[in-house]
Amino acid sequence: GNDLLRIENFSVRLPGRHGPIHAVRGISLSVRVGECLGIVGESGCGKSTLCSAVLSLLPDNAQIEGQIHFNGLDVQRLSSEKLARLRGREIAMIFQDPMGSLNPVRRVGTQIADKLMVHKGLSRTTALAEAVRLLDLVRMPAARGRLNDYPHELSGGMCQRTMIAMALSCQPKLLIADEPTTALDVTIQAQILTLLSDLRRELGMAIILVSHDLGVIAQTSDRIAVMYSGEIVEEAATETVLDRPRHPYTRGLIDASPDINRVADTLVTIPGSVASLSEAPVGCAFEPRCQAAQHKCRKVAPHRTTTSSGAVIACHFPLGMSE
Ligand code: ATP
Ligand code: MG
Repeated sequence: GNDLLRIENFSVRLPGRHGPIHAVRGISLSVRVGECLGIVGESGCGKSTLCSAVLSLLPDNAQIEGQIHFNGLDVQRLSSEKLARLRGREIAMIFQDPMGSLNPVRRVGTQIADKLMVHKGLSRTTALAEAVRLLDLVRMPAARGRLNDYPHELSGGMCQRTMIAMALSCQPKLLIADEPTTALDVTIQAQILTLLSDLRRELGMAIILVSHDLGVIAQTSDRIAVMYSGEIVEEAATETVLDRPRHPYTRGLIDASPDINRVADTLVTIPGSVASLSEAPVGCAFEPRCQAAQHKCRKVAPHRTTTSSGAVIACHFPLGMSE
């Protein structure tokens, strides 16, 4: 159909000090044109590894299984030329630390203009004019006046707006935002999320929004994929996930977010700690922390099943099934 991105049965093993780390475990996900998919899960569950894979940015020593198709193209089989085009023009990525992603010794206008000159072949004058347009697009206050600023002269929110402007410079079809608001305080977080939502509507681009904070994801996404220990344990439309969570882990995330409509500034806590990614669990990876766990959960890993409404769940005893 109109899937922009299709991730199929994708696994990543990274070498760790004590043997391989199975950071991504058989994930299947797709993103439609113009859609915002939220990926939520605790620190270390493999979110950034999955994002890197989409841009084929995993380290050389990563062992990969499965496939990633973008616009019908197998990302792992692209020539270096096509891959550069994919990264520069088709898919853009923004990260948690906007200040650290900008070059501290170059002016904001120069950094945006350089990108436009390289990827779009614009002249310096045209590129600088385009930089102003992009800074306006991301609602940068006094856009033209910012061209000569250095990153340290901008607030954290303004740095993230600059990163978003650079990401938008080549009109990407997909923007991957990996914890884009984690380093910002709560009011600025909300402004950046609103900006991303507005831009998506204005530009028709798809977004993958990654966060450990369900509040952030809930506010912005059409669909939510809940990740635990390298796997997607539940995936459904945002309202479905929030109103009728099926996986006990999702339930825990919701219970740990006192007000899901507010952007939370507190870390979500669920008793127990994240499963080790170095061992393959025999049963369900969440079993040691699951209040609904039964004997079977220790013995057999749950398969993912798709409900009639298209939701995906990997749990032997999903919540609310018997009601
Ligand atoms: P966070 O919320 O903290 O950003 P995350 O969900 O993005 O976490 P990843 O950064 O994808 O998690 O890490 C998943 C696992 O892979 C972790 O155990 C991490 O230590 C490990 N890992 C990540 N990158 C590498 C690497 N280059 N080499 C070895 N192990 C890695
Ligand atoms: Mg990460």
